[in-house]
Amino acid sequence: MNIEDIKKKYRLKFDHHTHTIHSKVGPYYHGKGNIIDNARAAAKRGLDSLAITDHGPFDFYGIDMQKLPQMRRDISLALASFPKLKIYLGVEADIVDTPNGLDISPEDFDKFDFVNAGYHYVPKCHMIHNFLAFHLPHWPGILQERLRRQNTARIVKALKSNDIQTLTHPGDKAFIDEHAVAKACEETDTLVEINARHKHPNVDDLKIYKQYDVKFVISSDAHRPKFVGRYAESLALAMEAGIDPERIVNIQKR
Ligand SMILES: [Zn+2]
Ligand SMILES: [Zn+2]
Repeated sequence: MNIEDIKKKYRLKFDHHTHTIHSKVGPYYHGKGNIIDNARAAAKRGLDSLAITDHGPFDFYGIDMQKLPQMRRDISLALASFPKLKIYLGVEADIVDTPNGLDISPEDFDKFDFVNAGYHYVPKCHMIHNFLAFHLPHWPGILQERLRRQNTARIVKALKSNDIQTLTHPGDKAFIDEHAVAKACEETDTLVEINARHKHPNVDDLKIYKQYDVKFVISSDAHRPKFVGRYAESLALAMEAGIDPERIVNIQKR
């Protein structure tokens, strides 16, 4: 099905993975819009709900945890402007080597409506090794395998140690064992994200995930307001992998 037909036949109910100017490092804004800009885009596209999920605090572009009350206030203001839209404060936590496997401690979970988690190049997760192995085609296979084991163990531990709503773009930026990750998502009832903004999960990866009893979610992972609510490319990817749209929690027939 082509993109235009997909848009005519299906709608996106919610977008629970978007970034704002709160993903920033020094004067550089990794996310380009304010909370109200993402809310305006979500309302315009007819979404039922939106989540602001900036990067976890270990990230180079990570949120300042001290700013969470301000983010809540900005969400309240946006809610007043777009009363039909629900807006959640989440986070895209980093999967790292900490006691609970995330850069958000168990005590900090209460500060968010929910926590998504994903792998990024941040300290405490073999960042440099993974970056080189993932981007240099001739990196020795034996080292790739070791990284694959370490990355998989790290993700499985994070999933089993925390209540994570969505595993974001699994397999992007670092090698993993998709079967083991899918099994852990199944056991922990974690949504598997389909996110065409990244190279993974690709069609081959999704064909593995669909063999497990997991549910999927489509996210825009928008870093600019104009991309909030983007879903058709991700849905096309899911369909190419043979995933029944009924298994995608935020897709609805029009
Ligand atoms: Zn991410
Ligand atoms: Zn993201």
